[in-house]
Amino acid sequence: MAHTIGVIAGDGIGKEVIPAGIAAIEKATRGSGVSVSFSDLPWSCEYYLKHGRMMDEDGYERMGTFDALYMGALGAPGVSDAASAGLILGIRQKFDQYVNLRPMRLLAGLSSPLANRGAADIDMICVRENSEGEYSGAGGRVHQGLPIEVATDLSMMTRAGVERIQRFGCKLAQSRPRKLLTLVTKSNAQRHAMVMWDEIAAQIAREFPDVTWDKELVDAATARMVNRPESLDTIVATNLHADILSDLAAALAGSLGIAPTANINPERLYPSMFEPIHGSAFDIMGKGWANPVGTFWSVVMLLEHLGETGAAERVMKAVEHVTANPLLHTRDLGGTATTAQVTEAVCAQIAATSQSHLTIA
Ligand code: ATP
Repeated sequence: MAHTIGVIAGDGIGKEVIPAGIAAIEKATRGSGVSVSFSDLPWSCEYYLKHGRMMDEDGYERMGTFDALYMGALGAPGVSDAASAGLILGIRQKFDQYVNLRPMRLLAGLSSPLANRGAADIDMICVRENSEGEYSGAGGRVHQGLPIEVATDLSMMTRAGVERIQRFGCKLAQSRPRKLLTLVTKSNAQRHAMVMWDEIAAQIAREFPDVTWDKELVDAATARMVNRPESLDTIVATNLHADILSDLAAALAGSLGIAPTANINPERLYPSMFEPIHGSAFDIMGKGWANPVGTFWSVVMLLEHLGETGAAERVMKAVEHVTANPLLHTRDLGGTATTAQVTEAVCAQIAATSQSHLTIA
């Protein structure tokens, strides 16, 4: 099997963690008859500062030719968030990656900042609507700089968009052992689109009678995540709500540095994109402190998406083998290990298990 991956390492620690992820893919697929080729797409804020745009003019066409996209992080001091986020949001919309998946669980050897909570308490997956809602990009500014200035950000929800994300969430909940789904909403205050969101969710949920379904206001959902994380399994939320909740969940699972995300076009008409959830983190750039675990976990999601489940499993097992050892924790997890040390240990463990896998086969 041959796969092609377009790689946008991007800015800051994105450039430090992506090579680690590529090394893991190469180790996990070596000798297994799977070939993976990587094409470097040098688009970033650095590119923006040189060229006045985030990517080449034929960027979307080029990206559209790959089986998957693998991204580090975009964002840099001196470049507006509108420019850097424009590329990420553009890719998500252009390639109709309407599902953003964020699994969160306590990996072996990691502890939660929540007292007396272990792996059995924190195991959830957030399904974020990724193509419309609060981040639809609709809105504008008029009379800029004048006392009468007006600015709007329009949250747009379509029936088709809500139906497809709710159906995806229900199917995912159905595939997980606990079959629980929590719908996050704010329909008590936002009385149009969020009310439609709730109505459609209830309709779709009726197609999945084996899924236990409940509804939580987003403010109450933050408290529930802290007080009763064990009550959450699959969470379906809007673009903005899930953005916030999933960062909270990542922190509860140990660090922003361990969390992955997959931007998926379930119909596979376009490439899906995989990335760690953290940003470019210029404060730690160049120090060797970046935790590559979120990047490895996003590799696991990428390999699963490509159908390489054996390789995905080998990477995930290797990551947990390494996180189980406190000597291999990076600073964000309270340790002193460097990006390079963690990467070397994960790759060595993948090689060890790949070897035994090939011998048994
Ligand atoms: P954004 O690009 O989204 O604006 P950011 O670059 O400011 O974000 P975040 O990703 O929000 O950074 O991370 C906040 C802080 O968490 C960082 O400044 C950094 O100190 C720490 N952090 C984030 N990711 C990692 C990581 N992979 N390893 C270690 N620390 C991290």
